[in-house]
Amino acid sequence: MIPAQFDYLAPKTIDEAVGLFAQHPDEAKILAGGHSLIPAMKLRLAMPQLLIDIGRIKDLAYIREEGGQIRIGAMTTHYQLESSDRLREICPLLPECAAQIGDVQVRNKGTIGGSLAHSDPAGDWPAAIIALDAEMVAVSAGGERTIKAGDFFVDMLTTALGAGEILREIRITTPSGRFGQSYLKVPQPASGFAVVGVAVTLTRDSNGVCKSAGVGITGVASKVYRASAVEQAISGSALDEQTLAAAVAHATDGVSVNGDLYASEAYRRHLAQVYTRRAIEAAASHAK
Ligand SMILES: Cc1cc2nc3c(=O)[nH]c(=O)nc-3n(C[C@H](O)[C@H](O)[C@H](O)COP(=O)(O)OP(=O)(O)OC[C@H]3O[C@@H](n4cnc5c(N)ncnc54)[C@H](O)[C@@H]3O)c2cc1C
Repeated sequence: MIPAQFDYLAPKTIDEAVGLFAQHPDEAKILAGGHSLIPAMKLRLAMPQLLIDIGRIKDLAYIREEGGQIRIGAMTTHYQLESSDRLREICPLLPECAAQIGDVQVRNKGTIGGSLAHSDPAGDWPAAIIALDAEMVAVSAGGERTIKAGDFFVDMLTTALGAGEILREIRITTPSGRFGQSYLKVPQPASGFAVVGVAVTLTRDSNGVCKSAGVGITGVASKVYRASAVEQAISGSALDEQTLAAAVAHATDGVSVNGDLYASEAYRRHLAQVYTRRAIEAAASHAK
């Protein structure tokens, strides 16, 4: 449980961090809240020669509204998102998701940027972020680029971030109209990670017809995914009993469902369908 030897640097600005990372793109790792990286280092699953701690950079933890978007700094903690009254009003999926992560200590230290960059296949944030069709802003010595959430999660513990790239900000289009959102999960009893977690955001017109839907599912496959077939099946419907029953049958379409100690493949598939239905119903009940 003792990590391999490493060096440690704590830059004060993002430019400084980018410069250091550019000098050591292969040997260094970014340290955010440390709640995934440090355990991995203790188990020697990760052995970086250098940690670049971005926790001392002042302007990386924020929740802002700008240009019709919610902008979240990568170092914003799960707790800061969970306890934001403004987010509860304008995008309740974010605090709802944050509140279900781990325990109080994990939520106080862990960050949204760290969680997304880690791309744990059972992490909670990826489900919400992909359902919301967010954009990630990554910065490196080569400049800044924006990556769509749908392209960001490449595989288990692998994202589209390149060598020397730091995730700086997450951007979400501010929901509008008659919208409803929900995040529901079956937690792994010890850690809280999702055995199955489903995030839903949808809009309805004045007749109750679903105009648009985003459904993100975590815990089920080797990476988070958007349940596009479910989204298509409920869009344009009144979210009636028959439509919902038929739609959720597609919750695991196109993915290879994991089976493990906590849930067999068949049970996880069943949970994905049940929780997709519950999350859609919960979101729909708010969109009035
Ligand atoms: C006991 C326990 C229970 C947990 N339960 C849950 C749970 O229920 N649900 C859940 O989703 N998570 C859970 N977690 C994980 C927790 O949410 C972590 O905080 C999170 O996964 C990683 O965020 P971090 O800020 O701690 O990142 P770190 O651990 O510091 O970093 C994680 C990885 O991301 C990279 N990284 C970090 N920030 C950036 C950045 N800005 N740009 C580029 N790369 C970056 C690091 O180099 C590292 O590879 C749990 C953790 C513990 C220890």
